[in-house]
Amino acid sequence: MYDIIIIGSGPAGMTAAIYAKIAKKNVLVIEKSSYGGQILKTNTVKNYPGYEDISGYDFSNKLYNQMMLYKPDYVNDEVVQIIDKDDFKEIITKNSSYKSKCVLIATGATNRKLGLPNEEKLTGKGISYCAVCDGMFFKNKVVAITGGGNQAIDEALYLSDFVKTLYVIYRRDDFRFESINLENLKKKKNVIFKLNSEIVDLYGEEKLSGIKIKTLDNEENIDLDGLFIAIGHIPVSSMCNNLVKTDKSGYIIADENCNTSTNGIFACGDVRVKNLRQLTTACSDGSIAAIEAIKYINTQNKKTNE
Ligand code: FAD
Repeated sequence: MYDIIIIGSGPAGMTAAIYAKIAKKNVLVIEKSSYGGQILKTNTVKNYPGYEDISGYDFSNKLYNQMMLYKPDYVNDEVVQIIDKDDFKEIITKNSSYKSKCVLIATGATNRKLGLPNEEKLTGKGISYCAVCDGMFFKNKVVAITGGGNQAIDEALYLSDFVKTLYVIYRRDDFRFESINLENLKKKKNVIFKLNSEIVDLYGEEKLSGIKIKTLDNEENIDLDGLFIAIGHIPVSSMCNNLVKTDKSGYIIADENCNTSTNGIFACGDVRVKNLRQLTTACSDGSIAAIEAIKYINTQNKKTNE
């Protein structure tokens, strides 16, 4: 029986593990992929206090090494379900199951898909959700990016430095914000904006060869070497379906101390309803959730001893 099981080793989960281990709790961290979470996708972080400029990879390594100094148990596995047994929680993974007095859900968010036929088949074969991870494979190639948020514009600017031609495909008539990155992108000679345009088909057998876009009054085929999809994120909360309250998008509803609607289950980081999803807020949540979980365990222990 663990005191605390932390699901996810992104910034929120790893921070929670540090706090819980410093408080001498018996902690297991379960991570389905590599540690670090979404920040691995960026090559520069300039807004985390204490670091003027650090890559997502270095940030993740530093945080992981710091966490491992305190020796939490750590397994690579995917959590598929959490079962509330009242006085403890059972965590079911693909390969095993674990028991814990309480659970911290720090599973973050994942990429939103276009939902088109061929998308899955061509992912990794010309289609990518991460310009920083895969962009360099497309040096001097013809590439498109779809999306209109800050992330899409940042990634577009990054790609525009080395691809031959970059199409920026966005379904609205204009971007709903101003930023230096957007201004700089608009100045690039190799960037072609396709506004009021939506991707409706993806072509290619062994690899992506092109896309079809639908404009207000037309359809157009564009030959491409690569397509980057940057249309936002969805929360990873399916493992606690029907166990904790979520909003209609699936983000877990938690109070400012990261308590969910179920006793002993805490949600921290990008997976919960909040206004700002960043490293600072993920780490902040991780520390708050750990402290709250420790209080919960102490109260439970007291009740058992009475
Ligand atoms: P995540 O980082 O999403 O980590 C969740 C972890 O949980 C992952 O490792 C995942 O594999 C694991 N997991 C998920 N489901 C399961 C499961 N079922 N079982 C086990 N493990 C599971 N923020 C900044 O402050 N500054 C920046 O410059 C910045 N740049 C960004 C650039 C990009 C391209 C992106 C995508 C995000 C950026 N962010 C930035 C945002 C920041 O990365 C996130 O806010 C932060 O990573 C959220 O941390 P988290 O721990 O809540 O979730």
